[in-house]
Amino acid sequence: MFSSQEEFKEAYLKKLEMTSGKAFPDTTLQDRYDTLGQLIREYISMNWIQTNEQYRYQKQKQVYYLSIEFLLGRLLRQNLMNLGIYELVEEGLGDLGIDLKDMEDVEQDAALGNGGLGRLAACFLDSMASMDLPGHGYGIRYKHGLFEQKIVNGYQMELPEQWLRHGYVWEVRKPDLMMQIPFWGRIESSEKDGVTSFRHVDAEIVAAVPYDLPVVGYGTTTVNTLRLWNAEPYAYKAGRDMMKYKRDTEAITEFLYPDDTQDEGKVLRLKQQYFLVSASIRTILESYLSRHGDLTNLHEHVAIHINDTHPVLAIPEMMRVLIDEYGMDWDSAWGVTTKTFAYTNHTTLSEALERWLVRIFQPLLPRIYMIIDEINERFCRDLWDAYPGEWGRIEGMAIIAHGEVKMAHLAIAGSHSVNGVAKIHTNILKEREMNLFYQYFPGKFNSKTNGITHRRWLLNSNPPLASLIQSAIGDAWIKDPSRLSELESFTADSAFLENLHKAKQLNKKRLADRILQTNGIVVDPDSIFDIQIKRLHAYKRQLLNILHILHLFNRCQENPDADIPSRTFIFGAKASPGYYYAKKIIKLIHSVADLVNDHPAVKGRIKVVFLENYRVSLAEEIIPAADVSQQISTASKEASGTGNMKFMMNGALTLGTLDGANIEIQEQVGDENIFIFGLRAEEVMKQQQDGSYYSMEYYHHDERIKKMLDQLIDGSLPDAGDHFETIYDSLLAENDEFFVLRDFDSYAKAHERVASAYRDQESWLRMSLINIARSGYFSSDRTIAEYAREIWRIGGVGLR
Ligand SMILES: *Cc1c(COP(=O)(O)O)cnc(C)c1O
Repeated sequence: MFSSQEEFKEAYLKKLEMTSGKAFPDTTLQDRYDTLGQLIREYISMNWIQTNEQYRYQKQKQVYYLSIEFLLGRLLRQNLMNLGIYELVEEGLGDLGIDLKDMEDVEQDAALGNGGLGRLAACFLDSMASMDLPGHGYGIRYKHGLFEQKIVNGYQMELPEQWLRHGYVWEVRKPDLMMQIPFWGRIESSEKDGVTSFRHVDAEIVAAVPYDLPVVGYGTTTVNTLRLWNAEPYAYKAGRDMMKYKRDTEAITEFLYPDDTQDEGKVLRLKQQYFLVSASIRTILESYLSRHGDLTNLHEHVAIHINDTHPVLAIPEMMRVLIDEYGMDWDSAWGVTTKTFAYTNHTTLSEALERWLVRIFQPLLPRIYMIIDEINERFCRDLWDAYPGEWGRIEGMAIIAHGEVKMAHLAIAGSHSVNGVAKIHTNILKEREMNLFYQYFPGKFNSKTNGITHRRWLLNSNPPLASLIQSAIGDAWIKDPSRLSELESFTADSAFLENLHKAKQLNKKRLADRILQTNGIVVDPDSIFDIQIKRLHAYKRQLLNILHILHLFNRCQENPDADIPSRTFIFGAKASPGYYYAKKIIKLIHSVADLVNDHPAVKGRIKVVFLENYRVSLAEEIIPAADVSQQISTASKEASGTGNMKFMMNGALTLGTLDGANIEIQEQVGDENIFIFGLRAEEVMKQQQDGSYYSMEYYHHDERIKKMLDQLIDGSLPDAGDHFETIYDSLLAENDEFFVLRDFDSYAKAHERVASAYRDQESWLRMSLINIARSGYFSSDRTIAEYAREIWRIGGVGLR
């Protein structure tokens, strides 16, 4: 459409004036952004239509990725880069005196997710489209995404996020594709010719209205779809409170639950889940039937992936539609359903495994409950045949037991594949949490190491490094990330290493400027940028990091002339609003920062910075500037991590435990290019089991630990009040559930190895380059290729 800059400029100016109703000089940044977005979306539309037509006529197997979260971030830059028109647009706008960077900053992040699970879904969409795979997302259009975090006096405040305030240029509302979703009511059964059929009566109907977002592949004409459902009132019923109905309906897609590791036990959450899957499954089946006549072969043409247990009701919903609406018998329906679905498990934290009380579930979703009950009966009967008399085992595997519906059990029984996201996590599932299921269904379990899209996390967010790579090995790596390995031939090239250093310093300088602007803290770009950004959670152990900083401060005080290298510690983290302990840790980070940052004994060698409102677009600014990537979860607790991969790809060295994908990073780069410390997963799990860890011993036998813990409660810390007693107690009275004190010594030693390695710049840069060169494995293109071949069994196009 835009074959030249001139053409683009003309189209843009015309559209800008038409849509804003203003002369060009009077238009605001928002007007200019909106017009740009609309123009690009229209440009995308042609390929979007064509892709859909192609899918329809070629009858390719389609993949649907169901996820309660899609953490998309911003789309303008990604779309322009993927379309290959970034420079054309940049120059065209430049002629008009508009800076494309300013346009990018107008865009609000679409923060429809909490963290890694939602970001994984977004990375997968990019990879599927870029690899020409017919893969689409289904999610929820939350009116308010994850809350906006403000820090006031070191405390987290939560503001409602407002990504839709100025409208959203990338979406297309499709009211004609609305679905009706029933809640509450009763089930009536009737019999005809010996067949029982069921009717859901007296239900409260909610309208699910789709908003479609185009998912543009890189360097291809493929445009897939992310469909986000919005809840709206459908029909008022006489005798009901209209306002209440409206409120209850709209509440379904009002807020994202600000936590993905805890089940709030709320009816609303269950409503969200059924709302998502019911609208999606019925749409998928309708679309399938418009392409193919026969439902018995559904699994040959459709693969549905459920991202963790939140969308697992898709399984009984599919059964319901096949049986109640299309008249299929139970056994055929179950055969088709289990062959269509695949499931990914993202956690072993047993408190995070979703369970619903039957007394909440049954009234809200009466027909779905009946179906799950039947699935459970049949499943338990099969188990009884396999394990006669073993009541305990069957009870441990039942889908409904002790008045609860167990979502993970339903997911495993109802799908053909269970993916554990990293090797270690898959093994823990097989040997522990899901061991009984593994014994019964050994063939279902598999591991597909997570990945990130290198296009967003390297090409788009780190231009200095991307252009250095391009100058060295060309741009084949953008389509085929395994080719980043060609960078290995530069490890002895000191001119290249010098350029790598320059690129990193440019990024550090940029981040230092931002820190000065937003936090008013001066940081030295020549110091080690040591970064921990991720959700705040006890198992991720931000506490270990901040306690160690306090320890470094103590060392400076004891010996002001100690030869300590200059370090900037950067944090970014949101704490779930109800997570009291996590909020205390945010306060502690600020309190230590206040103590350390301008203290004369420190002489500027340690700076502590907390960047507020951590989100995708902030991560994109921070990660390119990192020297050290802190991935320090208690071993066995982090299913995978993907932040670790983003840092590695940007040349940061990992300081981490042998947990999640850190292990696979270590396998790729070798022991000499990573800093590993701490207990291993087996050791943690063993000590948890046999109760052999006493944190109090570490307090009494390690003076460093005693000193810093005492500082938490003796008034040494600014504005401490009694805030840190909870933390103190968790470490001592409650025996330090996450092994912070246990790993402290090993962690401090690893920091010393980091500090001394950094002194040899040439060797550091070589390590950094090896990390970049071996990061191709962690591209989500590789992950998606594995899913496509081994789970979804979709063919050829774009697959390497
Ligand atoms: C990648 C990412 C995450 C996941 O980070 P982990 O370190 O793996 O927990 C969370 N939030 C955002 C905004 C991300 O970009």
